Amino acid sequence: MYPDVLLYIDGAWTKGASGKTEPVLNPATGETIGKLAHADRADLDRALAAADKGFKAWRKVSAFDRYKVLRKAADIIRSRADDIARLMTLEQGKPLTEAKMETLAAGDVMDWFGEEARRAYGRVIPARMEGVYQLVVKEPVGPVAAFTPWNFPINQAVRKISAALAAGCSIILKGPEETPASCAALVQCYIDAGVAPGAVQLVYGVPADISSYLIAHPVIRKITFTGSTAVGKQLASLAGLHMKRITMELGGHAPAIVFEDADVDNAVKILSANKFRNAGQICVAPTRFLVHENVYGKFVEGFTQAAKAIKVGDGLDTDSRMGPLANIRRIEAMESFVADAVSKGATIATGGKRIGNKGNFFEPTVLTGINRDMKIMNEEPFGPLAPVVSFRDFDEVVEEANRLPFGLAAYAYTRSAKTMAAIGAAFESGMVSINHHGLALPEVPFGGVKDSGYGSEGGSEAIEAYLNTKFISQAGN
Ligand code: NAD
Repeated sequence: MYPDVLLYIDGAWTKGASGKTEPVLNPATGETIGKLAHADRADLDRALAAADKGFKAWRKVSAFDRYKVLRKAADIIRSRADDIARLMTLEQGKPLTEAKMETLAAGDVMDWFGEEARRAYGRVIPARMEGVYQLVVKEPVGPVAAFTPWNFPINQAVRKISAALAAGCSIILKGPEETPASCAALVQCYIDAGVAPGAVQLVYGVPADISSYLIAHPVIRKITFTGSTAVGKQLASLAGLHMKRITMELGGHAPAIVFEDADVDNAVKILSANKFRNAGQICVAPTRFLVHENVYGKFVEGFTQAAKAIKVGDGLDTDSRMGPLANIRRIEAMESFVADAVSKGATIATGGKRIGNKGNFFEPTVLTGINRDMKIMNEEPFGPLAPVVSFRDFDEVVEEANRLPFGLAAYAYTRSAKTMAAIGAAFESGMVSINHHGLALPEVPFGGVKDSGYGSEGGSEAIEAYLNTKFISQAGN
């Protein structure tokens, strides 16, 4: 059963002062499955006061005790993975196996940041005078305002909450309105693990109203957002106006290059699996397939067969490999990408259409005959569309890979060590994966460059974003 979702403010689940709610829909059926409480100004003021108080309490909890809370939260979420995955599939659409993987992976993120809490070292710099100690101390930046989207209702939130708590910060998370229950279940895990009251708040509502109020508020010291580049730029400029630290994890349009000497079958297998996972609604999904002309035919044939073989259906059905798109906006976007490409000369190798008229199902789609004027080659598709383009030489493909303002993820397939080194260096991208799909583990950096954002949500870099550096120079007397 799907629960009605409340706000979590100052240590209690609450309906919100206005009593306003919005419906939550199942994207596989279009039916309303529950309702979500909205926060208004009064709720946000309470959340801010609680975060202020929560910060003062939580920062005093030792790193070792913060570690223990995060480790316990990890155990709790693992023990609840089946139930939470089901909520996620109901509200977001992804197949149960993907939802469960995401939920279990959250435990790994909590573990990682718990351990990082104990490694937030400062340093001692040798002084020029005897008896002087020059200390570099890491301190939590303060209450955080975080904004997370609907494509990974848990994964995007767990990184932000865990990093903030590990560093000793409190956090107000505005979760994803379209997929709220699994995110609320995540928050419950921290609560049950014993996080200090006020250290975590969860709110939902009108995104622009909440972000403009929280970002400008003096209690908030750090902003972190995952979502589209357009919204990220607005939030980053508001944060700049108020001199707030930011982490921005924004859109991408990842090139996937298959060189002439690649193991094409392996490339087809890995790229097709990662293209259509979560129905393509992944910021690091491979989205521009650039294939050497001598292996282009083989790649298109294999990739098209792989796309055709994907069973699309309700994520609760155990044989579904791809669920619906998370909301009707994505269906409209897919139809617009396909119509634009076809009007400019593209050929549909497979797919291209919505499936039925109930639920947001769209066919896994492969497009050929692509040119650069098409929208699909310039805007992030964020859905199950794969445009495949041929190229002749290294310089040409690098120019295309780096042509767009995005720089989040990039992929390449080649057997040549020389090409691996050259392409790794040439990509203008925050993340590069060669001959496999190796991104997004908690212990490795996760983030983009250029319009894809700023900062890292993984690896040892991730906790730094929640820490201030203080320098203390101290003489005996
Ligand atoms: P959108 O741009 O309106 O929203 C994207 C996300 O930002 C949503 O979670 C939304 O709630 C939030 N948001 C929007 N306006 C906001 C504001 N003023 N303040 C705070 N949060 C705000 O569009 P959408 O239809 O939800 O998604 C469309 C595009 O967003 C996709 O095509 C994709 O490019 C991008 N997106 C990226 C990610 C990611 O993981 N980087 C996730 C979701 C969406």
